[in-house]
This record gives sequence, C-alpha cells and structure tokens, in this order.
Amino acid sequence: MVICTHGHVDHIGNLAMFSTGCPNKLMIVGCDIAQSPDRFLAHDFRSGIAYELDEFVRIVHTPGHSSDDVTVLVRTSSGPLFEAMKAEGESEITVAVAGDLFESEADFNADGDAQWMSRSANSEVQTDQRKRILHKSQAVVPGHGPAFRVKPEFQRSLVWRKCDNRLLAC
Ligand SMILES: [Zn+2]
Repeated sequence: MVICTHGHVDHIGNLAMFSTGCPNKLMIVGCDIAQSPDRFLAHDFRSGIAYELDEFVRIVHTPGHSSDDVTVLVRTSSGPLFEAMKAEGESEITVAVAGDLFESEADFNADGDAQWMSRSANSEVQTDQRKRILHKSQAVVPGHGPAFRVKPEFQRSLVWRKCDNRLLAC
C-alpha cells in the first residue's frame, strides 16, 4: 500500500519505484485510489467521507495546499512515534500524517503563516482544515520536518465559529 498525501513532485517523485512487483497494491494519491493494475476505486472524499483502511487508520480530505490533499489519521498505542509523542497518562494517540497541510512545526512561529500560505492554493480553506486536524490529533507528521506534538497554544489559536447551529472548529 502506498499513500501520497498530494501530487506535488517533491512528495511523489519516486512513486514509480512502487509500480512493479506488488500485484495487488493499493495506491492512493490525493483523492485518487487505484488497485493495480488499472482499476480505479470510486470514493467520495470531497463529501467529507473518510476512507477507512481499518479501525485504526483512516484517510480524510484536507484541501487547501492543493485541492486534492488528504491526511492519514492513525490511532496508535505503541511504537517509537507513540513513545515519542504521547503525553503522560495517554494510552493511545491519534497521529495525523498530514503532508503539506502542515509544512513543519515552524508553521506556528511568528512568521510561519506567511511561509505556508505562500505555497497554498487556497489558504482560507487550508486554515480551516488545519484547525480541524489540530482538534482530531495529538501529533502531526508534517510534509517537511520532524513529527511534532500538538501543543495547547497551537489549538488556542483556533477561531471557533458557528456552523449549522453547532460550535465547531470549522
Ligand atoms: Zn506540496
């Protein structure tokens, strides 16, 4: 199985390395899902429906950086990333493998917004998706840096607003 969060060449440049030798591989690039050799699977990411790989791993549409970006949400309770990212008392965390939805933890520096927004196809949409993922996860694997813990100050920067008569981080 190969999952690419989006189609930019710095993320998929070596994709051809996986094109042979795995007859039943599942390949996901952004919102496109293919089961080799040439069978495309229809999935309506754009309606907000997650693609569930199993009870621990799901893929959600998180547009903004590009229109087709996806994020892989992984519930984990073991392994090196869990050990590095868990807070005291946590027995399970959700890790967001987010591609360029977050470029790095430096996105949250004083000049960070200007950096990631300059590479965003739609920074307003991406901002909403960043908020959503910060509320669903305890750690993020960004597109261009080491994994980082979602800190309270990152979430405090969220603007809450009313959507469909419910308060949501939209
Ligand atoms: Zn990119």
